[in-house]
Amino acid sequence: MVTAALEKELCTIYGINAARLEKLEGYGSVNYLVTDTDEKKYVLKVYTNQPDFNLVKEEIRVLNSLCVDLEFYVPQTIPSKDGNLYPLDKNNNLLRLLHFIDGEFLYDTENSSEILYSFGRRIAQIAVALSKYDSAEVKARKLSWDLQYFYLNFPLAKHIADPSDRKLVNYFFDLFQQVALDELPYLRHGLIHGDLHDLNVLVENNSVSGLIDFGDISYTPLVADLAIALTYVMLNKPDPITPAVEVILGYHSVFPLEKREVALLPHLITTRLCISLSHSAEAKTKSADTEYILISEKPAWQLLRQWISLNPVFIENSFMEAAGFKKNESAEHQENILSKRIKYFGKSLSLSYSEPIYFSSAAFQYMYDGDGNTYLDAYNNIPHVGHSHPNVSVAASKQIRKLNTNTRYYYDSLAEYAEKLLGYFPQRLNKIFFVNSGSAATDLALRMANTYTKSDHHIVLESGYHGHTLAGINVSSYKFEGKGGRGVPGNITRLPLPKLFNGTFNTTSEYVENAKEEIDSLSQKNIAISSFIFEPTSGCGGQVPLPGSYLKNIFALLGKNKSVTICDEVQTGFGRLGNWFWGFEMHNVVPDMVLLGKPMGNGHPVAAVVTTEEIADKFANGMEFFSSFGGSTVSAEIAMAVLQTIEEEKLQEHAKQTGYYFVRLLQELQKHHPCIGDVRGCGLFLGIEFITANNEPATALAKEVKEGLKKRFILTGTDGKYDNVIKIKPPMCFSKENANQFCEVLNEVLKTINY
Ligand code: PMP
Repeated sequence: MVTAALEKELCTIYGINAARLEKLEGYGSVNYLVTDTDEKKYVLKVYTNQPDFNLVKEEIRVLNSLCVDLEFYVPQTIPSKDGNLYPLDKNNNLLRLLHFIDGEFLYDTENSSEILYSFGRRIAQIAVALSKYDSAEVKARKLSWDLQYFYLNFPLAKHIADPSDRKLVNYFFDLFQQVALDELPYLRHGLIHGDLHDLNVLVENNSVSGLIDFGDISYTPLVADLAIALTYVMLNKPDPITPAVEVILGYHSVFPLEKREVALLPHLITTRLCISLSHSAEAKTKSADTEYILISEKPAWQLLRQWISLNPVFIENSFMEAAGFKKNESAEHQENILSKRIKYFGKSLSLSYSEPIYFSSAAFQYMYDGDGNTYLDAYNNIPHVGHSHPNVSVAASKQIRKLNTNTRYYYDSLAEYAEKLLGYFPQRLNKIFFVNSGSAATDLALRMANTYTKSDHHIVLESGYHGHTLAGINVSSYKFEGKGGRGVPGNITRLPLPKLFNGTFNTTSEYVENAKEEIDSLSQKNIAISSFIFEPTSGCGGQVPLPGSYLKNIFALLGKNKSVTICDEVQTGFGRLGNWFWGFEMHNVVPDMVLLGKPMGNGHPVAAVVTTEEIADKFANGMEFFSSFGGSTVSAEIAMAVLQTIEEEKLQEHAKQTGYYFVRLLQELQKHHPCIGDVRGCGLFLGIEFITANNEPATALAKEVKEGLKKRFILTGTDGKYDNVIKIKPPMCFSKENANQFCEVLNEVLKTINY
């Protein structure tokens, strides 16, 4: 019926006798492939959605005069019988009849380097050809697909359902805003095609023979056409950089790129990806037929995820080289920085690894060095929700522009945050004090405990670490019994770390019995115990979860003495353990104080002591508590963003699942490598303990493993009493694929070591 009516219109308006009409894929207009009785083909576009008539007119004007000069095809509009290029059908829809361009879609070809090179040349040729035209209508166009108007997509990005996906889009949009936006006005501008995806590109005889669908023609930086083309060429490729380089080589041979255009290319590509993904997300919320628009969604997500595993220096250098510019060499700069560091910093400030790493940037679970390598970060627990998470950076930058003040005034964010965070604690822990580091939290907690108990004797665990201040070192066996330490201080009772694998004792009850003896001996000497400070899983002790009933028993012994229990959650808190939000929950105890730090601000210095009303009240003895930066407006916004991100991205559950999976993989490796004595921990707080054939601590081997992993671009660290435990405590977005990679590489490393 519809077809019959169209056939009639074709005849009356264009004088064409259609033999067949086939509907084509597309959006913006309804398109038909028309074959006439002489087997000649055309494309008929019926603009059913009230297009901007002036823009279509401009498109036709430009293309009809442009096609004369080109050595490839672009769609030429055919006038009606009476010479009208823009006739209307009976329903007043604008009609447009185009010559059909033969060829295979670039999408369907194997994307050989020959084809890609010729594609690059065509993109440049169209740029040169279009540069002869000007159009006020096109210049006035504000299209959300136009890269310079990327911000029009922010509301669409909100429709991305999965917050872990949405963060990637927000990250790249934010990066574009920070890095590229100011540069755009300085780029060469002109008319561009605007939508050179591989279904708008036709190939014949191993060369691009035609470009179609100029519906997104816009006036914008010229390099945007190349960036858009590259975006689609890079989809579905195990190595996306090589095909992109082919296209750039072709482009540059016709229309030499400027250095600043090349520098922005990576950002323009990721922004195009993000625009496309934002549109797809919005399209999904509508019931319309979205198949066509969603066609590139899956590979676009794949590319975006793949992109964060590629070092930006590597990408930029690859593009620079293709365009004949020198790579950014950073070796000299790195050496210079390192020598300054050595010159100005004390020797006690150490650098990791035998050859230290110079990092230039990081995103989520990846860190990028200055030489173009990407490291998988299996070690840094401070960027809890991921390096450079946009929720955190946006929260910080917004607030620092608005108000950054301290707790002598009151403001929304800190009180709201305190309420939200305390909601994660048992009811009796209902007071919070903000500081700026784990060390400051320890210091404050000890001071409170001393005020509360009128004592300053503390019980600590072997290998414990609670901070670098005088008070912190005083309760940290890791330091006072480590290199340069002065042994157990007089006001400290140090218990052995209750470690069941190769520990001082073999059973929990022996450890409890030992603790009981120590506590009894103190009481016999009339020494009141101020506090017992511990980590629920000992980090510096070598990722050792305290065994089952240990804390419950110790708490019972101490409870009788009214001593304060201080749980240091600086490493274990905020869902890292997977099964529990706080480490003390795994032991079924409620401490009197909890120390928070590292993950709380994702790298911004915010930390806290959480305690009971009773202790907080006793501490208020007239002396003011004030920390200049503790709980600032900016810190509060950041901490809130971190907590919301943990919730939104379900990072605790993610840590639980990834942790289970990771431990199983490591246990599998253990079967093949007897040097792995123990695999332990849960969530994303794991340890691998290395032993010799005689079941002795294998310190040198653990170091070799750490260095071997680093050489293969995986970051870990070693710790434990004998420094023979590889610690795994990555940003919480670390994935199962990352765990696979880790175990494959660890296996490789262990095979190369003669142990
Ligand atoms: N407690 C624990 C368990 C820690 O791991 C650390 C830091 N490594 C601290 C306290 C001290 O924190 P900060 O470095 O922020 O002072």
